[in-house]
Amino acid sequence: MKKVGFFRSIHLKLVLIYVLLLLVAMQIIGAYFVRQLESTLLRNFETSIQERVDLLSYYVGEEMAKERNPEEDGPTLQEDVYNILKDFNNTSDISEVQVIEGTSLRIIGTSDPNNQGIVGQRTTDGLIWKVIATSDEDGDDQTLIHRPSGNRIWKLAEPIKVDDDVIGGILLIADVENVYSQMKTINQIFATGTAISLGISALLVVFLARTITRPITDMRKQAIAMSKGNFSRKVKVYGYDEIGELAMTFNSLTKKLQEAQATTEGEKRKLSSVLSYMTDGVIATDRKGRVILINEPAAKMLDVSRETILSTSIISLLGIEEEYTLEELIETKESIILNYSTATKPYVLRANISVIQKETGFVNGLIAVLHDITEQEKIDMERREFVANVSHELRTPLTTMRSYVEALAEGAWKDEEIAPNFLEVTQNETERMIRLVNALLQLSKLDSKDYQLTTEWVDFVQFYNRIIDRFELAKEQNVRFERKLLDQATFVEIDPDKLTQVLDNIISNALKYSPEGGKITFKMVEEEEMIVISVSDEGVGIPKDNLEKIFERFYRVDKARTRKLGGTGLGLAIAKEMVEAHGGKIWARSVEGKGTTVSFSLPYLQTEEDDWS
Ligand code: ATP
Ligand code: MG
Repeated sequence: MKKVGFFRSIHLKLVLIYVLLLLVAMQIIGAYFVRQLESTLLRNFETSIQERVDLLSYYVGEEMAKERNPEEDGPTLQEDVYNILKDFNNTSDISEVQVIEGTSLRIIGTSDPNNQGIVGQRTTDGLIWKVIATSDEDGDDQTLIHRPSGNRIWKLAEPIKVDDDVIGGILLIADVENVYSQMKTINQIFATGTAISLGISALLVVFLARTITRPITDMRKQAIAMSKGNFSRKVKVYGYDEIGELAMTFNSLTKKLQEAQATTEGEKRKLSSVLSYMTDGVIATDRKGRVILINEPAAKMLDVSRETILSTSIISLLGIEEEYTLEELIETKESIILNYSTATKPYVLRANISVIQKETGFVNGLIAVLHDITEQEKIDMERREFVANVSHELRTPLTTMRSYVEALAEGAWKDEEIAPNFLEVTQNETERMIRLVNALLQLSKLDSKDYQLTTEWVDFVQFYNRIIDRFELAKEQNVRFERKLLDQATFVEIDPDKLTQVLDNIISNALKYSPEGGKITFKMVEEEEMIVISVSDEGVGIPKDNLEKIFERFYRVDKARTRKLGGTGLGLAIAKEMVEAHGGKIWARSVEGKGTTVSFSLPYLQTEEDDWS
């Protein structure tokens, strides 16, 4: 954050406000004080002059009233008046005093020694004329500007009265400029005083304003630190005023924020660990459908990298641009099936979309939860296929039987040649159905969890030989048997009944598909921790693509032919379950037209034999 410049700071504002207020106060006080002082000084000046004029008028009146004999040698009126006026010449404030005779209006004396020429002349001053003419007791005065010097002068005219008769007048000219220059000096002193006090108080305010601005600056610094995640700082409380209280509130706010932040962090960590440890994929988007969060399982499911996928559209991420727009996605209530299966690998995901919505209905974003349903789909498909297969397998013998029974009922029973034949077919079909149902029952038992083997230790060489013997005795075809078994007794822990069934099926298959004069080889080899038992024939063989599938339920390479041979297509599927229940594996190898080898392995620990020996 930028630092506040000095010219914008509260600091400067406070100083300015204070100085301006002080200035205004000083101005108001100054104006009032100067006016009062000026008027007092002027009044004092005027009264002191007035008093002297009053005294003068009394003395001059005495002299003028005196009887004078022109023949006598005594001083003349002019001389007497001049003697009285002489004293006024020495005062600084009075510049001139003139005495005017009442009737002739002639000047009979002046205090100005340089102006004695005007004595005897008629006065030209209007003010004294007016005072003598109106016999104004209080006299009259006037303030004028003296033309040549520019100084202010004060003229005062007073009548001279003897027994209430006006016999003359006194005209006094005083220099008031002194009073004004005194005022000027006082004003200057006042202005200097104001300037000095303003300067000093401005300096003081600079320091005092710090007490306000420093806590504010501190809080600002703390706010910056807080925005960067540092909650360890504390604002210093300088005093218990409003700013101090603000600082304390600020500190408690910091504490609360820190707690809130810690809670949020904790929640965030919890959420992120929940998200990363859950097996379902989770994708969150903003309101425009752009990915803002994707957990590891989701990234794995969609085979993308978490870093690069952020802020791409969820629609394109899921690859559903053709089926959905964002609006449609928001409105979908059902889950979406995403089929990413390829020809070789099935891969199906289910996405449940939920919308994050405010109470106002405003959509904040989407949450998509992805679930891998490939296995489930596969199981579902197998189940459907199985039911279809079972129904089909049961219907075929039933329809055959129905048509034969119908033919018998319609009269074929009477025919001695056809009837036994028809009945035999019906019997065969019934037996096939029983076999089928038995095989299904067995499979369902193998599927159930509580299925258990009844195992015992058996010498497999002897066990295998006995089964081959049985087939050799019963065989009707011209097929040669060759045995390549182990020389010594080999003990394995097996369920003999179940393995008899496995071998019965494999051998009967080999016999079924062996040509006339063919050879069946029975092998038994010992491998690391395993014995491998195999049955090879020289029959038609199985196409390479179907080798895996012959262990699936109901699978037959050539349906028409095998059905004629009475097979259910369940034999190898049952064998597979049983071998796997023993902890072994079953597989087939074949060259088309040359023959087939079906092998299975059983766990076998050689050390156990050592223990016996
Ligand atoms: P069931 O065993 O119930 O009589 P099945 O023999 O037809 O019926 P499986 O034993 O499960 O059923 O065999 C499945 C299919 O595998 C057979 O239908 C056949 O097409 C093929 N098959 C199995 N063994 C051989 C073999 N030795 N040679 C050629 N094809 C074989
Ligand atoms: Mg079979």
